[in-house]
Amino acid sequence: MLAEIKGLNEECGVFAIWGHEKAAEMTYYGLHALQHRGQEGAGIVTSDGDNLHLHKGNGLINDVFQQDEFSRLKGTAALGHVRYATQGGGGYENVQPLVFRSQKGSMALAHNGNLVNAYMLKNQLEAQGSILQTTSDTEVLAHLIKRSGHMGMEDAIGSALGMIKGAYAFGLLTEDQLFVALDPRGLRPLSIGMLNGAYVISSETCAFDIIGATYIREVLPGELITIDDNGLTSRRFASPLQRTLCSMEYVYFSRPDSDINGLNVHASRKTMGKELAKEAPIEADVVTGVPDSSISAAIGFSEATGIPYELGLIKNRYVGRTFIQPSQELREQGVKMKLSAVRGIVEGKRVVMVDDSIVRGTTSRRIVRLLKEAGATEVHVRIASPPIENPCYYGIDTSTKGELIASNNSVEEIRELIGADSLAYLTAEGLENSIVKGKDSTEHGVCQACFTGNYPTEIYPDTVLPAYKG
Ligand code: SF4
Repeated sequence: MLAEIKGLNEECGVFAIWGHEKAAEMTYYGLHALQHRGQEGAGIVTSDGDNLHLHKGNGLINDVFQQDEFSRLKGTAALGHVRYATQGGGGYENVQPLVFRSQKGSMALAHNGNLVNAYMLKNQLEAQGSILQTTSDTEVLAHLIKRSGHMGMEDAIGSALGMIKGAYAFGLLTEDQLFVALDPRGLRPLSIGMLNGAYVISSETCAFDIIGATYIREVLPGELITIDDNGLTSRRFASPLQRTLCSMEYVYFSRPDSDINGLNVHASRKTMGKELAKEAPIEADVVTGVPDSSISAAIGFSEATGIPYELGLIKNRYVGRTFIQPSQELREQGVKMKLSAVRGIVEGKRVVMVDDSIVRGTTSRRIVRLLKEAGATEVHVRIASPPIENPCYYGIDTSTKGELIASNNSVEEIRELIGADSLAYLTAEGLENSIVKGKDSTEHGVCQACFTGNYPTEIYPDTVLPAYKG
């Protein structure tokens, strides 16, 4: 599905490299591979051993970086970030990496996730005299590090991480060290690779492939990694808890060519499609997937049922972005511009339309209508994840509960609203089977809170602050 029209948005992507002559350029390419995780802002900070050099801006990587910038981004270490900004949090000052100066030296921070106690910590910090300049919760961590009684950076970061709660995958670059940390439940993905002796860190492994780096391992929940000219060292800042990796990374967000926690995303989506076919079979003539993220699940559904997979919907890749258009009518027009139903494939056919999820339902209704206008006699919608009934507090903008169609309507009511001939969702059990079956659930468990309401961390009354998402 198309993120910008669906109302379901990833918050960020982080990439870093240590010990490479072309650190800024490698980071630029790495961020390109992570562009789907955020299109609102991008930045790269480098270290030449004495100073940090930053360039960032609003927009896509190609809007923010031209050739000139790279001559200024000196050094063999770099930290980069792509950002999706929620309403009210999209100003230039919130584009990461954020650079801070203190008695401990300079530090640049980039973050993927959301701290559930950021607002509480911000109030505490301000009461103690800190002045926060941005509305990003990343800055809260910076102030906690600055105020730590520890002089050494690693200890200061470790003690600051002990105070924050929620989902976070952090990169932190100083003049002479790179630090990387993942929250104790490992809600967000973060991997380590190597490129000709240089260490590489990325939110997704697809960024390793684009620069020719080799995957080494995952950053572990509760792990703080320090990389400098002496190599890589690791310590635990918290005991690892039952892993609850975001299942939506598999369902929708991550690129199909990425491996997360040892499982390829395309393969997991195919399994979701197969599980869905087992749970909700239907007689039909063709199966089609909503491009791009639902195609793998549609192939799985087709393989399991024997109904041929066809390209019944295609995406026009060269239309302008439409998510900033304010009205529903214009957003729906955006769907029409971006997706076309292929008449020659669907005309006179009973079509199974596989999609990864339904958020507000407006996009699904529009796509069902596109297929029927193109001559489909029946449209059976199959969703490769359970109904999204609850908001996410961990860095994914899922819309508020009131906007989520499944929190206010039964499956039958949703079917009617989107105009489908039948509608079925994958169960939470089916989703879990697709991702963790046969594996140690302590290490491979997933969060399904937006489906089930079982949040893996404490949620504070003032947690939902869109402007605080990083
Ligand atoms: S609530 Fe949903 S979107 Fe948020 S981390 Fe959990 S699975 Fe992912």
